[in-house]
Amino acid sequence: MMLSEQGRPPEPVEVAEPRPRAGQVEVRVLTCGVCRTDLHIVDGELTDPKLPLVLGHQVVGEVAGAGEAAERFALGARVGIPWLGWADGVCRYCRSGRENLCERARFTGYHLDGGYAEVTVADERFCLALPDAPNDAHAAPLLCAGLIGYRALRMCGEPERLGLYGFGASAHIICQVAAGEGRRVFAITRSGDAERQAFARGLGAEWAGGADELDEPLDAAIIFAPAGELVPVALRALAPGGSVVCAGIHMSDIPAFAYETLWGERQIRSVANLTRRDGEEFFALVGASPVRTEVTEYPLARAAEALDDLRAGRVRGAAVLRVAEGSATDG
Ligand SMILES: [Zn+2]
Ligand SMILES: [Zn+2]
Repeated sequence: MMLSEQGRPPEPVEVAEPRPRAGQVEVRVLTCGVCRTDLHIVDGELTDPKLPLVLGHQVVGEVAGAGEAAERFALGARVGIPWLGWADGVCRYCRSGRENLCERARFTGYHLDGGYAEVTVADERFCLALPDAPNDAHAAPLLCAGLIGYRALRMCGEPERLGLYGFGASAHIICQVAAGEGRRVFAITRSGDAERQAFARGLGAEWAGGADELDEPLDAAIIFAPAGELVPVALRALAPGGSVVCAGIHMSDIPAFAYETLWGERQIRSVANLTRRDGEEFFALVGASPVRTEVTEYPLARAAEALDDLRAGRVRGAAVLRVAEGSATDG
């Protein structure tokens, strides 16, 4: 599926299979998660895509070939390709353990062709080894929704009471991780969205409801929804010393608010991208205590429909493109 220009949906095209260059693996794509970031690229809110572009940065696939000097994975190995596709390794950020902020970073499905395709190539150093479970469809959303959510959770410190604003793909994973760590999770959805609230409670949230119904202060809040008006709302829900972490790559403007709302050592911060270390930590955690992801599968050819459903808020859990079946049993 190829995005030829922003503002239009990706369309099916036949192209020559990409060949792995030195240090790259060729990956036969099995599944690819559909992320809100893909929507921001299609809709033009992110302004620097390679064009034409193969979207998709939550790629689960099998290694089908290797370029010169690429020796990290055996043929047939199951790997994940995340958003961070390449970093230079030499800038001040890379040298201080912050490759997520690399000045020359290249992102999968944005600067580099991604996984809305039958075959892709990736720098083997930025691929992630995946644990045996969950299966190909259920592992895909872990590669961004899970990983970025995990980085956002770590930015919260050690909150006892954690609020999740916007209960989509990322929150439904992080709810389970945080509840598993013994945190009290409060899921904030649109008022009256009883189905989503029940979904959140089923994944370990102690409480679920609308923002104006929350009557307990939070030690931290993660905002997954791309809605800037939630920032002052979440700040007002914080106890002193608490943090609001904005997990999305794009958000509408944040309305002005009184300094008093921030006072009391409350903080606001964003989370940008991921490091390979985040990936290793997160998949070690998932390997040791599995999370259940809820996915809605679409065939690759219906990628545009998956994007529309995500835009309209019609997806429960995460949308995933099914590209091929794995050669190992995929339960
Ligand atoms: Zn760098
Ligand atoms: Zn993403």
